[in-house]
Amino acid sequence: MIQLDEQQKMILETVKNIARKELKPRAAEIDENAEFPWYAVKVFAENGILAPLVSEKYGGIGITYLLFSMIIEEIAKVCASSALILIAQADGVLPILYAGNEEQKGKFLPPLAKGALGGFAGTEPDAGSDILSMRTRATKKGKVYVLNGQKCFITHGSIADYLSVYAYTDPEKKAKGMSVFVLEKGMEGLSYGKNENKMGMRGSINSELIFENLKVPEENRIGEEGEGFFNMMKVLDSSRVFAASQAVGLAQGAIDEAVAYAKQRIQFGRPISQLQAIQFMVADMVAATEAARLLTYQAARHIDAGRAREIPKFCAMAKCLASDTAMRVTTDAVQVMGGYGYMKDFPVERMMRDAKLVQIYTGTNQIMRVVAGRSILAG
Ligand SMILES: Cc1cc2nc3c(=O)[nH]c(=O)nc-3n(C[C@H](O)[C@H](O)[C@H](O)COP(=O)(O)OP(=O)(O)OC[C@H]3O[C@@H](n4cnc5c(N)ncnc54)[C@H](O)[C@@H]3O)c2cc1C
Repeated sequence: MIQLDEQQKMILETVKNIARKELKPRAAEIDENAEFPWYAVKVFAENGILAPLVSEKYGGIGITYLLFSMIIEEIAKVCASSALILIAQADGVLPILYAGNEEQKGKFLPPLAKGALGGFAGTEPDAGSDILSMRTRATKKGKVYVLNGQKCFITHGSIADYLSVYAYTDPEKKAKGMSVFVLEKGMEGLSYGKNENKMGMRGSINSELIFENLKVPEENRIGEEGEGFFNMMKVLDSSRVFAASQAVGLAQGAIDEAVAYAKQRIQFGRPISQLQAIQFMVADMVAATEAARLLTYQAARHIDAGRAREIPKFCAMAKCLASDTAMRVTTDAVQVMGGYGYMKDFPVERMMRDAKLVQIYTGTNQIMRVVAGRSILAG
């Protein structure tokens, strides 16, 4: 059982209300129109949860990773695209939170907590799982770095006010030659390619970024030169717990829909919920989702407690298990609902499409098994 204090309970209650009243009613519409939900950004900012890991000193509310995971889960139950806003925002914020100096935190974090959008740019057309093969270069010239290169699939890419971008300052050194910079919207040399047309998470924006002789002041380099890869791995550990929470929310949302439907759908003169075939399917869906939730909370607790040895493997295992579970559970929810589940009149087909992304992003589930397996066998 999770013990929350009164303030944490209040925050979670507020989030449940937002999910029910503001996000659920428009989830189908933003999916259908591939429309970014600016209203969600506004309501998150107004309620202090746009970047809630940021401490009060920098304009946030300084909650735990566990509570943030629970918030993401609540939102993903009704609208996974809206939950992705919080995840992409955290991905943009954490590089600064983990390695920024006082001046950088004071400059970038307050706007990100109050409504400006952030993003995290690592992936390139030829560098996905093999991120060290990235080609983006940052060459020091006096007091600026000149960036040249390209990123792809970047969540919030073309609409972000601040982007945490990874580039090689010394490509020969590979992992020890990567650095991270904050790019600000409107910087000369930053342009955008296409926004992707996706299978799921259609309320989210994913863009190509193009850097052509983009001059970034050295004050925007986060941490020391060569510390970018370490920073990226630390951010991705956390991001995997958030993705796991999103997956748990998707699975739970699909269960809620399928159970409600099964109780009222009459076939052969009685509700299908009385058929053992349906009961067995629902029992498996709930058991798997509960297990994924517990592992996800455990990973979040490890981050809160700063248990460095446990964090990478637990975050990878949670993301992998929860997203595989969400894929299976959302697919079974469609099955429980028969032909109606396949139609866009019900949300489970959207949840099934949304779940697929979580097996892929923040590192694919194959890579999650590599990370977890290596860590377990090395320890
Ligand atoms: C909607 C969306 C949003 C995203 N948002 C962001 C973002 O905000 N920022 C960002 O930086 N990136 C983002 N990404 C990129 C995402 O993290 C990558 O797509 C992911 O890491 C996989 O890289 P890839 O697509 O190049 O696949 P590849 O690396 O080409 O992988 C292809 C296949 O090969 C497998 N594979 C590759 N290497 C191995 C290996 N060593 N062992 C076993 N299997 C392997 C993979 O598991 C996969 O099945 C996003 C992607 C999507 C689809």
